[in-house]
Amino acid sequence: MKEYSSNDDINRHKHKPRKKLRRKARLLRRIRLFLLALLVCYCLAATMLGFGLLSNNDPVGEDKQPKILNSAVETNDTDFHADSIANEENNLDKTDAEETAWCLILVNKWNRIPDGYEVELTEFADGQCIDKRIYPALREMFDAAGSDNIYPVVASGYRTTQKQQNLMDEKIAEYQAEGYAFEEATTKAEEWVAIPGTSEHQLGLGVDINADGIHSTGKEVYEWLSQNSYKFGFIRRYPAHKTDITGVINEPWHYRYVGMEAAEDIYNQDICLEEYLNKTN
Ligand SMILES: [Zn+2]
Repeated sequence: MKEYSSNDDINRHKHKPRKKLRRKARLLRRIRLFLLALLVCYCLAATMLGFGLLSNNDPVGEDKQPKILNSAVETNDTDFHADSIANEENNLDKTDAEETAWCLILVNKWNRIPDGYEVELTEFADGQCIDKRIYPALREMFDAAGSDNIYPVVASGYRTTQKQQNLMDEKIAEYQAEGYAFEEATTKAEEWVAIPGTSEHQLGLGVDINADGIHSTGKEVYEWLSQNSYKFGFIRRYPAHKTDITGVINEPWHYRYVGMEAAEDIYNQDICLEEYLNKTN
């Protein structure tokens, strides 16, 4: 019995771990089922939520995200456009300033042409050259004059330093022929001819304009120019009443390109280029 019971005990002892294992296995199966059920529920819920969102007709809900994105993009875009417009304006201002600087260069007996000044020339007519940048304005002015039955010609455009020197030498010789000593002849000549290195003709921005002598007289041409040249960016550079400032006697034929804005101001305020630059600088 004892044996039996002991065998029985042994058996019971033997079966105990098996039972435990079975219980554990059952528990694990339940846990697995439970987790599976949870997963299925989660998936179902997620699917239903997805369908719910998709079938939601609320336009705000539908557009919410894109709207935020759009508005963000729009805001950024607006900022970007505003910035780029501001930058463009700055650049334009800058470009304007840079673009007008060349035509506002001051050259007179006190301000020599900068060393190494370069000019790109183009022929206007009859072998007379000018800075190519002023060609369109000069052409337009001549065409407008023609429409008013005024016929000007460019008597003198660009001059090299040598050409300017030759003009000076000729003028000095003229005075010497009249009996003036060289020094006095030179002083007198300088009233008429700019000292080489100080002539606007060497810039290609100054032009002497006369009448063609056939259809118009000098008086008609000078008068038309003095009243209309500013509309094309040109100024009468040496008026009689500004001689003490410009250092040059009255020259009703000498016109200088300064750009539309400056020309209009100079004309309206009856000032010369020196006065204009003093005001704006
Ligand atoms: Zn001149």
